[in-house]
Amino acid sequence: MVGTFRLNWIKSCLSQSNSMWFHIPRSLFKQIGGLDFVLKCDFDVNRIPTKLSDFHKQALLSSKMVFTHNFSPHNSNVWNNRVITINRKSVFIGNWFEQDIIFVTDLMDCNGSFFSYADIVEKYNLNCSQRYFNKICKAIPLPLIHLIQNFLIYNNSLSILPNLLIDECNLMDKKCNNKFISYVLKSRIFHDYCRGIRQSPILVNSVTLNKAYSKFIKWPILPKVKETHFKILNKIYPVSDFLKKRFKFEVDLCSFCNNEDETLEHLFFLCPVSQFFGQI
Ligand SMILES: [Zn+2]
Repeated sequence: MVGTFRLNWIKSCLSQSNSMWFHIPRSLFKQIGGLDFVLKCDFDVNRIPTKLSDFHKQALLSSKMVFTHNFSPHNSNVWNNRVITINRKSVFIGNWFEQDIIFVTDLMDCNGSFFSYADIVEKYNLNCSQRYFNKICKAIPLPLIHLIQNFLIYNNSLSILPNLLIDECNLMDKKCNNKFISYVLKSRIFHDYCRGIRQSPILVNSVTLNKAYSKFIKWPILPKVKETHFKILNKIYPVSDFLKKRFKFEVDLCSFCNNEDETLEHLFFLCPVSQFFGQI
């Protein structure tokens, strides 16, 4: 819910760009190219080259959870990029940005070599010292430069900024409502959410479902048991199948019967050993 609120805040801030309620964040983000631009960058919230309030940081972090910008070397931004840093902070230079220098490729010729200082000043009509220009070029990590160079040899596509898409749906689209945003956030947090959390074999009818989801909180049982119950219901109990899917752990078969994959259903409901427990 909190994540949805934050994303809605971003949405309003983008859509009501003239509203006085967004005057402060607008001025803040303007120092680093505007909120719309920042959201399209591959930023690290702690490296952003301006001081942001905790709320703005949290809003940006929530945005990182839902926007999927596919990495492509030639689309790498120079600005607010988490890997292009000077003194451990990303960089942003307003007047370069205004002159349409956005991508690393904007500083390169068609073979992927950096323009010389004289060329760049002439091309973009810039006013900057050679020392500073060298500093920026040096901040771009070599592996990234190599990736871009390799890409340029075989491709000739123009660098573009990504769209703000949440699971193929535009952030500003009508379809991108609270329900949709909250669904996407949940499916990012709970790995199995999309598969339907209500398909556990024991939960067959709505009465049992209702009891299982709500009543257990009031039962006079130990907190640890409630916690386990909650984890099973939400399919986040760390059985080995879960650890394998979510964290790519190497796992063994069921630790009771050593016969089948240790899924949640198997361990608690279907394994012969746990069924034997149920009988006593
Ligand atoms: Zn078993």
